[in-house]
Amino acid sequence: MEYQELVEKDFNHLWHPFTQMSDFTSRPPLIIEGGKGIYLIDTQGNRYIDGVSSLWVNLHGHRRPEIDQAIMAQLGRIAHSTMLGMANVPAILLAEKLVQVTPPNLTRVFFSDNGSTAMEIALKMAYQYWTNRGIGGRTRFVSLKNAYHGDTLGAVSVGGIDLFHSVYRPLLFPAYHAPSPYCYRCSLEKSYPACALACLEELEKIVESHRNEIIAIVSESAVQGAAGMIVMPQGYMRGLREIADRYGVPLILDEVAMGFGRTGKMWAFEHEKAWPDIMAISKGITNGYLPLAATITTEEIYSSFLGDYTKTFYHGHSYTGNPLACAAALANLEIFEKDRTLENLPPKIRLLSQWLDRFAELEHVGNVRQKGLVAGIELVKDKGTKEPYPREESVGFQVIYKAREKGVAIRPLGDVMVVMPPLVISLEELDRLLEVMYECVKVVTEG
Ligand SMILES: *Cc1c(COP(=O)(O)O)cnc(C)c1O
Repeated sequence: MEYQELVEKDFNHLWHPFTQMSDFTSRPPLIIEGGKGIYLIDTQGNRYIDGVSSLWVNLHGHRRPEIDQAIMAQLGRIAHSTMLGMANVPAILLAEKLVQVTPPNLTRVFFSDNGSTAMEIALKMAYQYWTNRGIGGRTRFVSLKNAYHGDTLGAVSVGGIDLFHSVYRPLLFPAYHAPSPYCYRCSLEKSYPACALACLEELEKIVESHRNEIIAIVSESAVQGAAGMIVMPQGYMRGLREIADRYGVPLILDEVAMGFGRTGKMWAFEHEKAWPDIMAISKGITNGYLPLAATITTEEIYSSFLGDYTKTFYHGHSYTGNPLACAAALANLEIFEKDRTLENLPPKIRLLSQWLDRFAELEHVGNVRQKGLVAGIELVKDKGTKEPYPREESVGFQVIYKAREKGVAIRPLGDVMVVMPPLVISLEELDRLLEVMYECVKVVTEG
């Protein structure tokens, strides 16, 4: 079909997520038709480096033969059968595999189909863990300002990004929101490390003063992703674990974005050995092939649900444990071993870090943040005062439209430029991606 015809149909019928449609329909959209490795290919045959891994899901490149094959083999057996009260082969094998690659205290896997539902499940599971043991009054989560856990209303309730969440406030359940560990714009006006993690102390004060009311502590792992790749300072994650232990409440960690090797380790909480009691995973789980997510928990939490029907976890989705998705995930995990994905990351992480030093010298780069192969480059109008650009200027979008002309597909978070390539990216390709981003930031912000 002709590009123009597709554009017309898109503009007539589609509603794109997280997108102001009045803007979207004001310029010719990028329409992707194919992909190979780390490249996206549009309907006119132009190639783009997939600089944000198709919104953080792709790890090993597009059209991986191993995953294609695994899905085709499963298609020859069955595409879907329910997990309610019965089982299927790939879901069983994947659950075993996930337990093997997660910390030893996590032994039980509950499947769903996206990151928001994985978090929704984590929240309900933690709440019912208390009620199943006959302990009442536990009705509040402690989460963080700037948190993002997905778009369903429970996940939004523990979210803390005003731009996305404040309009829904009247519909949400109340939660306590501790300060964000956002060192560049510290809400406590302190600086790390002299602050001795004062933001963590604030969180502890909340837990202490509501100790019989708290269901769980909820946080992303290591990086507050959607808020602009806010990298938590050293010691913060460890501190969360210690507070959870001190007050005997579960720690729910959201690994949806940072899991599956993004930060240089399989799980981002490994950097500080901050083992969660419940973890949520999704994005990288099938290399972007099919929707799948999992909430993984301890035997202790799981066993509180055993007994009579009142303790049952009345939660599930029609596509829970979908066999095609589970088969894709199994093949995806095997690639980590075959490609030695994690072992190959350190030189890429170093190259990114060298480039970030260069970015940091630019006139309108206020802050650069990195965790493994993930980075955020925060553009500001005035570096001295940290004054942001006016929102109407959409500086981040100006940069990505420029990058598109040079064969790079990226998506900013406000004025934070995001670097999040597939882990399989080569050093040469990563260098090219960063060179294009650097040029585009320079041209847009310095003219
Ligand atoms: C993307 C994301 C989610 C939501 O996942 P969806 O699959 O988009 O619903 C939850 N938590 C974090 C940290 C995320 O980055």
